[in-house]
Amino acid sequence: MTREELWRTALADLELNLSKANFTTWFKSTFISSWDDVSGEVIIGVPNAFTQAWLEKKYHKTILSILREVTDNQIKNISYKVEIRKKSLEKIFSDKEIKVGRYETKVQSADKETVNQFGLNSKYTFENFIVGDDNALAHAASQGVVKNLGKKYNPLFIYGGVGLGKTHLVQAIGNEIVRKALTKKVLYVSAEKFTNDYIESLRTKKMNSFKTRYRNVDVLLVDDIQFIVGKEQTQEEFFHTFDDLYHKDGQIVLTSDRLPQAIPTLEERLRSRFQMGVIADIAPPKLETRIAILEAKAKERSYDLNQEIIQYLAANIQTNVRELEGALNKIIAYHDFYNMALTIDTVKNILTSLTSRSNKGSLTIRQVIEIVADFYELKKQDIIASKCRRREIAIPRQIAMYLLRTELNTSYPTIGKEFGGRDHTTAIHAFKQIKNKVDAEDRIKNEVEMIKQRLYN
Ligand code: ADP
Ligand code: MG
Repeated sequence: MTREELWRTALADLELNLSKANFTTWFKSTFISSWDDVSGEVIIGVPNAFTQAWLEKKYHKTILSILREVTDNQIKNISYKVEIRKKSLEKIFSDKEIKVGRYETKVQSADKETVNQFGLNSKYTFENFIVGDDNALAHAASQGVVKNLGKKYNPLFIYGGVGLGKTHLVQAIGNEIVRKALTKKVLYVSAEKFTNDYIESLRTKKMNSFKTRYRNVDVLLVDDIQFIVGKEQTQEEFFHTFDDLYHKDGQIVLTSDRLPQAIPTLEERLRSRFQMGVIADIAPPKLETRIAILEAKAKERSYDLNQEIIQYLAANIQTNVRELEGALNKIIAYHDFYNMALTIDTVKNILTSLTSRSNKGSLTIRQVIEIVADFYELKKQDIIASKCRRREIAIPRQIAMYLLRTELNTSYPTIGKEFGGRDHTTAIHAFKQIKNKVDAEDRIKNEVEMIKQRLYN
């Protein structure tokens, strides 16, 4: 194995265990600068001191364990060094793909380079979107938008958890409009980019060009609108953008990880506008959908996966489509790398190593509480100590208690103590309440699911 091969395999692995943002931020320009077979010393080249410090502090253990696994424990020690290499992975990334054998994976930053002037990436189409019960409504509404621009489905608001296909759908809408030449004035933007552009335009006093860019369109597609909560100025600006477009019969499509009414600090006037048109949800994929997606994606890559393997993957990876794709990538990568036939046993092994390295072990009580508070936009103190019984606070508190039990196996007395010295019976009660709600109410079930995703991301 060469240095390059070793690092590519490690990166393929890391990519599956990190969020896209983290992966590209910290690993984009890294490479193995030297690898001494005899001493088992590896030096990883990094672009700057900041990255070096971060990798040392946050990712050292993970990198070490991955490199050891890949080399059968030949690696003894890793260090990091600031070093720029001409043909670093950055180059490979800008070729849009990292290749490991036939394994190709597109990366977020590469996505940026493959988008056209409308902000659209041509890889997301209606053709390659698999429709199942769980996403049929959102899919139909998205197609409806293309057929009735600015009319029936305005705005279209698509909501659902991470990795379920929101970006895919909203991008497919844009691509279809461009393909059919319905209008040239389409713009896709993440709410984060909208926010950054707005701030930048304030800073550089270029408000007019900002307004022209966002208001001089026929179709505005805004992804992850929940990002603007708590950013009052941006909300204000978005409100005016929205109204301006709406009054000109411009089509607006928004995506979010939750319903407008479940975003607590969203301004009321924006909330009511988001609810004016059609709201469509995407639920986590059911078994049949997961099977169909795996079959389609394997076929796309000209990979022949037998039914037993497909069934096994679909049964064991239930969270979202992104993870399904990730597991498939990983399996194909291993297969190509070691050039071995895929059997159900190898697949089981690969998946076990995938899940055993999830960061479950390192999650703390504090983090769980923080993430729940953050999700509901509450202060940690409100959840922990407040005596308030209002639903907006009581439910998040109970959910935090529930998750401590299910995810960390924390004892009821400890849970009670962590929450401002409550009795253990309170913790038991909370657990039961939420358990029932998860079974009975889709909204709570989805929220718990989304929080869990945040816990492990
Ligand atoms: P979200 O924006 O909801 O977090 P994405 O749209 O980024 O999710 O989807 C994650 C990955 O899964 C993407 O690569 C996307 O193409 C793929 N995907 C999601 N849903 C489907 C589907 N129904 N059919 C095919 N691919 C899908
Ligand atoms: Mg998305």
